[in-house]
Amino acid sequence: MEISDELRSFEATGVYRLNVTGTSTGAAFLDPVRLLNGSYQRFRIIPSAYYSRSFEPPRQVGNPETEPPEKRRKRKRNQKPKPRGLNAMERIAEARHQEARPLLLSAHESLIKDKYLLEHISKMIEGKEHKLDVGSGFENNFVELGTSWRAPFYEITICFRKPHVLGNGEGSFNAQKTSFPLFNCIISVEAIDEAEGDFQNRHYILPRGSCFLMSDFKRVRDLIPGSSNQGYNLIVVDPPWENGCVRQKEALCCRYPTLPNKYLLYLPVQELAHPAGALLVLWITNREKLRMFVEKELLPSWGVKDPTVFYWLKVKHDGSLIGDLDLFHHRPYECLLIGYINVNTDAKQGSNFKLLEGTQVIMSVPGAHSRKPPLEKLLSEYIPGPKPPRCIELFARELFPGWTSWGNEPLHFQDSMYFSEK
Ligand code: SAM
Repeated sequence: MEISDELRSFEATGVYRLNVTGTSTGAAFLDPVRLLNGSYQRFRIIPSAYYSRSFEPPRQVGNPETEPPEKRRKRKRNQKPKPRGLNAMERIAEARHQEARPLLLSAHESLIKDKYLLEHISKMIEGKEHKLDVGSGFENNFVELGTSWRAPFYEITICFRKPHVLGNGEGSFNAQKTSFPLFNCIISVEAIDEAEGDFQNRHYILPRGSCFLMSDFKRVRDLIPGSSNQGYNLIVVDPPWENGCVRQKEALCCRYPTLPNKYLLYLPVQELAHPAGALLVLWITNREKLRMFVEKELLPSWGVKDPTVFYWLKVKHDGSLIGDLDLFHHRPYECLLIGYINVNTDAKQGSNFKLLEGTQVIMSVPGAHSRKPPLEKLLSEYIPGPKPPRCIELFARELFPGWTSWGNEPLHFQDSMYFSEK
């Protein structure tokens, strides 16, 4: 099979741009494993560990004899394509969906028509090296540990490899082990390659140039840089939104705690933004009440005007959607609202970045519950300020080089069970 230039570039970058015929919408397919592997020299992410959800047995359809009535009602409601008698909020949500639908379908059609890409997607989970302890609950529960009275006493020991010049002038490295308080302490990985951390019998792989703060929301202001030119140019926020879906899953599998939506008004987004400008990305759910709160209160309070909507459309390894596009309570897509802080969006001249224009559809195969695809490469041309950009993720569960990751479990996906040695 002849490899197209786009596929060659995809193999190098993990981003595959698709032409969507008949619309001005941009579309791209992302391979998160390839994107993340660009951050590591000695390790690589195990595709089958990243895509562990693809190996889960299909959801069991309840047995009408034994299923509790509440669960049966929820299941039936979630299976309905379009509920009758929508309330006012649901009608607005449905209208938004109808507006997005043609874009989503065209983007998906362009993926399905691309036989090179489809073949690549089907191979993404090849290799049966899936480690059994992914999702088995052996990993540390940082959320719980962080709230224990012992939290101030927990330490992580990190082994950094630092450059060292030998007597004959040749370059080598020294391994240095240092212990740090695990919670409420900003830790930076300054080393020649990835560092390795040990905490409570688990091993963690930390990318070079990453930085993290594991703390509760109450300590989020510890992130505010000492000087404003150390502010961030890309700010990604993926809040633990309060909504029925997460509460329900939390009750079933204790995934993560949620936060009252109003608390987010206190996130110091303005103080984190670089004075030369920042691109802000906010992941939201499809609930209309939340969308209204975000558009009317939250984004204005952070100084973000006229955000652009992006969609994350989730596909399976055969390229099909993970669910029916029209299922009212379970859309196979999520939205991102993206806008600028400290940037005059009317002044198009003289800037060192491209202003975002119009909606884009991002497609990828989803990893673990709520794990989002990495966005820096896709958005790099739209990020204002100095290069390379300074990036931060709020409510993070993993680390990236050049990024600060904050949340109550930013080491979650850095557990060595997700990695193999190169
Ligand atoms: N962006 C992440 C990813 O791609 O894997 C998912 C983030 S998830 C939607 C929200 C995160 O916020 C969870 O890790 C959750 O534990 C964390 N969180 C919940 N309450 C928090 C709090 N009070 N302080 C800090 N983090 C919190």
